[in-house]
Amino acid sequence: MANAADTELDLALESAHLPALLAAMVHITGDASWVRPEWTPVYVPLSRGETGLSDAVQAEIRAKAKVVIQAYLSDGKIAAPAPDGVTLGRMMDFVGGMPVPEEYADFLTDELAISGKSTKDPQFDQPQLKDAARKLKVLVIGAGMSGLLAGIRLSQAGVPFEIVESNADVGGTWLVNTYPGCRVDNSNHMYSYSFEPNHGWPQHFSPQPELLKYFQGVAAKYDLKSHVRFETRVESLSWDEAKSVWRIELLGKDGSAETVEANAVVTAVGQLNKPRIPAIEGVGTFEGPAFHSAEWRHDVDLTGKRIAVIGTGASAYQFVPEIAPKAAHLTVFQRSPPWGLPVPHYHEDVPEGMKWLLDRVPYYDKWYRFWLFWTTTEGFLPMVKADPGWNGPTTAVGEANLGLREMAAAALAAQVEDRPDLLPNVVPTYPLGGKRAVLDNGVWLGALKRPNVDLVTQAISKITPKGVVTADGVEHEVDVLIYGTGFTASKFLSGLKVTGRGGRELHDVWAGDARAYLGMTTPGFPNFFMIYGPNTNIVVNGSIIFFSECSVRYIVGAVRLLAETGARAIEVKQGVHDAFNIRVDEANKGWAWGSANVTSWYKNEFGRVSQNWPFGLIDYWRATLAPNPDDFVLSKQPEPVA
Ligand code: NAP
Repeated sequence: MANAADTELDLALESAHLPALLAAMVHITGDASWVRPEWTPVYVPLSRGETGLSDAVQAEIRAKAKVVIQAYLSDGKIAAPAPDGVTLGRMMDFVGGMPVPEEYADFLTDELAISGKSTKDPQFDQPQLKDAARKLKVLVIGAGMSGLLAGIRLSQAGVPFEIVESNADVGGTWLVNTYPGCRVDNSNHMYSYSFEPNHGWPQHFSPQPELLKYFQGVAAKYDLKSHVRFETRVESLSWDEAKSVWRIELLGKDGSAETVEANAVVTAVGQLNKPRIPAIEGVGTFEGPAFHSAEWRHDVDLTGKRIAVIGTGASAYQFVPEIAPKAAHLTVFQRSPPWGLPVPHYHEDVPEGMKWLLDRVPYYDKWYRFWLFWTTTEGFLPMVKADPGWNGPTTAVGEANLGLREMAAAALAAQVEDRPDLLPNVVPTYPLGGKRAVLDNGVWLGALKRPNVDLVTQAISKITPKGVVTADGVEHEVDVLIYGTGFTASKFLSGLKVTGRGGRELHDVWAGDARAYLGMTTPGFPNFFMIYGPNTNIVVNGSIIFFSECSVRYIVGAVRLLAETGARAIEVKQGVHDAFNIRVDEANKGWAWGSANVTSWYKNEFGRVSQNWPFGLIDYWRATLAPNPDDFVLSKQPEPVA
């Protein structure tokens, strides 16, 4: 008769992602034949990872793995040496379900810390270096996901730092966005720091309070709060040529002002933190409560109210299904529909068995993350690549993109079979991948189909004290107006005055067209680094935490260069910066989001894609391994005062 532990293991194996489990078996047993050709998964695109393996094969795998796991649990030993490079390559191909190019082996081994260590761990090991690092000070602006990360790495490197945060707590976007239904749209097992896995995520895509709890937990674990000045804003900062330091003007919530100095400044303020209220005639005249999704008015009871929502982007997509059942009537004003990618388990709990496996079976978590990583990042990119010779419909950018479009459009159409009137308005005409796609488990169209919900596609002509007037002259009277209209994302570092060498202000230099080298550094602004800066965003491929981790590694590397060389200032060369940006602009044209048929917040007022990284993740990983001293001017002496 099965005992309790046996039953627990059987249940756990039921929820296993089998390719990841098989790769874990290779680690435990040292036997590479676990990843054998006849067990190779054939993933179904847009499925939740169905492997195509027959029930009999699945049962065989589970039974065999059970024996190994039981043995491992009884002695806790992995006798086998780590798989060699060739075996790791085979395992990657196997779990990825396709040949993963050889060049990815180092990158993925490192990203997943398969060997237990990573290039992202700061290596400040020699005493002299440690000593020099201790004499520097770095000021980080923002205590969200990126700022906390910078704090962790600087602290590991032994570099004194302070974080300035305008909010009363850490968490950034996960602290501020509290609208109903707010949740992560990347699988949590990938949307978490590579070095801080959380095997207890309650859902595959957990709600905002869980994300906040995670980041607060990390902040506590690394004792970061003691480094944070809360409820304090950085008003301006200026480079002091004589001393080679940044002078930073701080303003406390109570109005107290202070100036501090730091050798280097790191901005970690996010791209999506300044709400955008569109310049529609009459904005501000509405008599009832009107608010933006990122400034949700929890004091406004929506029950039984007539509500207008403007915008159908990622935020509205999450809160509309939540508020629709409460409203007396909900009018959703849509300018362009979002693309939904079918993800049926979007709101589902992570099965207990899955948590058990992540926690108890060594390497399972890493290979599960690898599978998520590969299939939703580099493995997905070919489907949104623009074919330069494409002469098919403008609703796609190439053959693969058209195929993806057809699959996603069919999934949308199937949901409105009973409401054919909705069909023309819910399938986008722009190519998939042009804007951020949302995850579709049916609740969005389910909400739009409700009898108390109207989807209005007429353009908005003005806002009045009573509601919203559309181009057809209809006034839609409502009690509450909610803006799901996004953020002023291309206005990088808005509200922050940054005066660099020669008294030049960063926004004057940018003139509305923000650029940086690798998203982080700009000529004329020594020792000034941005995380999630220009051209480091992603549209379809993966988690922004990946980018922040790479950026922070590079920034810590730049600080290391200062400590190692005794230089006072590190400044990217103009030519290096300009040549990089030419490459970026050219490459961005080669993707769906760069297509002339797409307008989005990824493009700035000049039509340039100022947000997105146009290469593979592996390219950012490689480019940010460490700063190349040849790309920079390292000055030892403070510049003479002019
Ligand atoms: P958004 O994607 O920029 O969406 C704004 C919406 O407002 C769009 O539908 C836009 O229409 C519409 N809009 C703007 N101005 C308008 C006007 N004058 N009249 C009518 N409609 C107007 O903003 P968001 O939904 O807040 O999302 C922003 C980004 O935040 C996302 O792309 C994502 O990166 C992130 N986000 C992530 C999550 C998550 O799951 N973790 C959740 C929310 C947001 P057009 O499309 O026609 O411009």
